[in-house]
Formats: sequence, C-alpha cells, structure tokens
Amino acid sequence: MSKLLIASKNPGKVREIKEIFSGLPFDILSLSDFGDDTNVKETGKTFEENAVLKARTIGKKTGLMTLADDSGLEVDALGGKPGIYSARYTVGTDEDRVEKVLKEMSGVPKKKRTARFVAVVALYDPQADKAFTFRGESEGYLTQKPSGRNGFGYDPIFYNFDLDKVNAEASPAEKNNVSHRARALLKCRNKLLSLY
Ligand code: IMP
Repeated sequence: MSKLLIASKNPGKVREIKEIFSGLPFDILSLSDFGDDTNVKETGKTFEENAVLKARTIGKKTGLMTLADDSGLEVDALGGKPGIYSARYTVGTDEDRVEKVLKEMSGVPKKKRTARFVAVVALYDPQADKAFTFRGESEGYLTQKPSGRNGFGYDPIFYNFDLDKVNAEASPAEKNNVSHRARALLKCRNKLLSLY
C-alpha cells in the first residue's frame, strides 16, 4: 500500500487525521511511527506558509508523500489571536493556554466572543517537488469556562455553531463531521487520490 506521512508530533491532530482518512487506500504513518524527531521551526507568517514549511521539510527528507496541518484559534475580540501562535501562546499545557485566553476575554460579553478554528493542510509530493494547500474553518464562540473531556487544545472552550455544543463535549465522530481539519482534509482527499 502507498505510504502517506503525517508531519506532526501532536497526538490529537495525528489521531484526527488518521480517523478522517481511515477509509483511504494508504498506509498512514506519523513522525513517531517513523522514528523521526526533526523539529521544523514555524517561521512563516500565515497558516499556509507554516503548513508548507512542515510538509516540504519532512517530505524532502524522507522522500514520502507528506501531509502537514497548521491550525489554530482566531478570536475576534483579540484581533485574531492566538492564531498561528495557538500552540505556543504560553509555555505549559493546553490547560494553561486555555486559561490565558479566558483571562484575556474576561468581561467580554457573549455576543463579542466569536471565534473560529482554522486548519490549513499542506500536501507535498516529493516526485514533482510541489506543495498544495487546502483550508478549512469552523465558526463558534468562546464559553466562559472549560467543559467536556474530548478533543484537545482549545476544544473545551469552543462552542461550535455546527454542533450546537462545545467541541470537547462532542464525540470524535461528531467533531470530525464538521471540524476545520475535516473540511481541509476533505478538499485534500481528491488531490491525494489523483496523485497516486
Ligand atoms: P500547530 O498547528 O502545531 O502550530 O498548533 C495548532 C494548535 O492550535 C494546537 O496545539 C491547538 O492549541 C490549537 N488547535 C488546532 N486545532 C485544534 C482543534 O481541533 N481543537 C483544539 N485546538 C486546536
């Protein structure tokens, strides 16, 4: 079976990508399956630049068809922050980053708490030395406090308009139906199948 490498060390992302692409005729590997500890510095200024940087660096190194996801949370009242800095908004855990965002949003009323998750998936084809990008978004608002136990990152404070509940309260299948990542991957899927 053809191999597809996911250039990510984030277990939450890798799990979701594997679930969403589970029916496809590819052997899906992640960096940890591959024993690769390359650390790609995210020096880009956009999700697109960072996703391509990760897919291209790892794809060139391994010679495998490589997929990378750069994603994050854009909060309107914070001028789009944490955005591309979502994973490194503060040192510490996902819980620490959730706490920081909630603190910055304290006193902001429900109507002004609108936010979206953005995912950009980059697919790098080493044979053609070409990268393609696909964007998906998911709209919602930030709750006042965390709830739910599923998902990862900012899922416990993101009320998803499509789900009518907080992302972390949704089952993996429910989230994967409507998530920013699923939307980007769905667009990527056809390209991927055409390249083999
Ligand atoms: P990066 O793409 O590795 O730079 O990091 C993306 C970061 O955005 C994650 O570490 C999370 O903090 C956040 N994020 C991206 N997608 C999701 C999601 O589906 N749920 C919750 N948080 C997410």
